[in-house]
Amino acid sequence: MKREGLTIILSAPSGAGKTSLCRQLFKIFPDIRESVSFTTRKPRAGEIEGEAYHFVSNEVFTRMVDEDAFAEWALVHGNMYGTALSTLEDSRKKGVDLVLDIDCQGALKLKEQFDGGMYIFILPPSIDELRRRLESRSSDSQEVIERRIIRAADEIKESRWYDYIIINDNFDVACGELAAIVIAHRRKTFRMLEKVGKLFDI
Ligand code: 5GP
Repeated sequence: MKREGLTIILSAPSGAGKTSLCRQLFKIFPDIRESVSFTTRKPRAGEIEGEAYHFVSNEVFTRMVDEDAFAEWALVHGNMYGTALSTLEDSRKKGVDLVLDIDCQGALKLKEQFDGGMYIFILPPSIDELRRRLESRSSDSQEVIERRIIRAADEIKESRWYDYIIINDNFDVACGELAAIVIAHRRKTFRMLEKVGKLFDI
């Protein structure tokens, strides 16, 4: 029996450090893949089509919604984002572990409709620290930062239905916790049976 790929769903308010944690996760586990979402957002400088996202028009996105091509989709900061059903199904079938960096609305839709995902929420240690991190990025105006903080408070309320919560106070500790959660899921008996079968020819 082939081992089914893990679906690892990560959500966090902006400024919680999700991007850096994801990057580190891919270094620790080079065989884990990142899901490439579809979005109607315009590419930022340096973002490459098919790597960061599949950048599509509103028309294409709407057509995909009508054709049930998405496992989940949501409106985030005024743009549409969605995970293609085929991305999820392919990786599961091929036994590839996949990370989805998606917002809480999309994560909830997945949790309601699909079995087997692991849902991890990354929290900042405090709202003050979140504000400090957002300000130190210096890429956003004060107004944008305030909007992100208000949104963060709403998103943090959603953390209660996730399977795991990681508080990203110390980056190395948070990375260790994320890796430990992934390893624990990878070592579940039903995911190891394929390897056991090969060892003992059963
Ligand atoms: P950004 O535009 O900064 O890359 O992402 C903005 C937000 O959209 C982030 O919170 C990210 O997690 C979320 N996001 C990215 N891809 C998807 C997706 O496919 N579905 C959902 N629901 N959210 C997504």
